[in-house]
Amino acid sequence: MTYDGLRIGLGHDTHRVGAGGPLRLGGIDIPSDLHLIGHSDADVLLHAVTDALLGAAGLGDIGDWFPDTAPENQGRDSTEMLLDVYRAVRKQGYQLVNLDCIIFAQRPKLKDDKPRIRDHLARLLEVAPDRIGVKAKTGEWVGPVGREEALMAECVVLLAPSEKTP
Ligand code: MG
Repeated sequence: MTYDGLRIGLGHDTHRVGAGGPLRLGGIDIPSDLHLIGHSDADVLLHAVTDALLGAAGLGDIGDWFPDTAPENQGRDSTEMLLDVYRAVRKQGYQLVNLDCIIFAQRPKLKDDKPRIRDHLARLLEVAPDRIGVKAKTGEWVGPVGREEALMAECVVLLAPSEKTP
């Protein structure tokens, strides 16, 4: 294996928590009495994934692509944004090797939702589920996550040159 052309990318995002569910996370609706607040649908995990992909491909950040001042991005489905970006990443000649992410949420407990989120991300990114890692941590009752004021997400991706022309 050659390591030429491998690219790593890092993404992070934070969104405030509001009362009333469901919770849109990783492109799926999770039953909860909380939701996330933002200009788009506020899917904190997809935003971190999107930023990681953009960083790895040298394509800027999610704010460059989808400004939160643009009316067309109001309430926008983050799945659309992720797929737009992923198309551009593949057009640059890259394929996803693997992705690893962490969701920081004091509540709800995501233990049973992690496999569903992983499978959904794998479908969106057209890779096998074993190339996607989804972890969840609480905020240990401290900081904005622990006080249930916000959810956060972090993501790293590894890209490699595509084997076939996109
Ligand atoms: Mg965001």
